[in-house]
Amino acid sequence: MGTWILETDKSIYWMEDQYYIDKIDKSPLSNGEYHVVIAAMKDWFNSQNPPGLMKIVLGDTKEPAHKLVNHGHGSGHTQIPTIKFIAADDSNYNSRNGTKIDMIIMHNTDAGLQASINTFKNPASQVSAHYIVARSGEIIQMVRDTYRAWHAGDRDVNGRSIGIEHEATSANRGMTSAQEQSSITLVKYLMEAYDIKLANIKPHRLVSTMPGGTDCPRWIWSTDSDFETWKHTHLE
Ligand SMILES: [Zn+2]
Repeated sequence: MGTWILETDKSIYWMEDQYYIDKIDKSPLSNGEYHVVIAAMKDWFNSQNPPGLMKIVLGDTKEPAHKLVNHGHGSGHTQIPTIKFIAADDSNYNSRNGTKIDMIIMHNTDAGLQASINTFKNPASQVSAHYIVARSGEIIQMVRDTYRAWHAGDRDVNGRSIGIEHEATSANRGMTSAQEQSSITLVKYLMEAYDIKLANIKPHRLVSTMPGGTDCPRWIWSTDSDFETWKHTHLE
């Protein structure tokens, strides 16, 4: 799709594929018209790399996701994962209230892929995670990183973490090689994007404060030492 412009009721976005690179907010005037300062986009049009033929979409009120930028630290060789977005029901997540992301919580679905997607789309379930890594290797995002998904069984941890589900059940334990490769690519990408430390990549069971706790993600990492070994082998 390349670069293009999306105009919504509140803003104008400079888009690259499904992500926005820059955003200009519209300021409503008392006469019902909007005021927009286009300096940033003007710079883009005057830059070395101006937009060519462009698609323009008007009037969608949903805010698209921001494209993550490489902050310049780390190896600079971070792979960008391919991600498909299927929205969770918006009653299954809420605002981070400005809390900085500094953790990743790893889960297993304990259900098939479609059943897991359906759970997060069901407003009655009151649960969600940001990502599901399927056994096929496909990565599905259901909650934008900027929101607090409900996966950790602890309010504070949900506020500061990204939750990643991995499709696995008692009948399909461990990860397929495609799934493991996608998981590694996704986690490394998020670590780089949010400057998350290896020590803050944790299995669900270590952070849940729900009564009775959880064994998640037992179908992939049956013990905490399995998890630590995997983490140090693949993410360091
Ligand atoms: Zn879990």
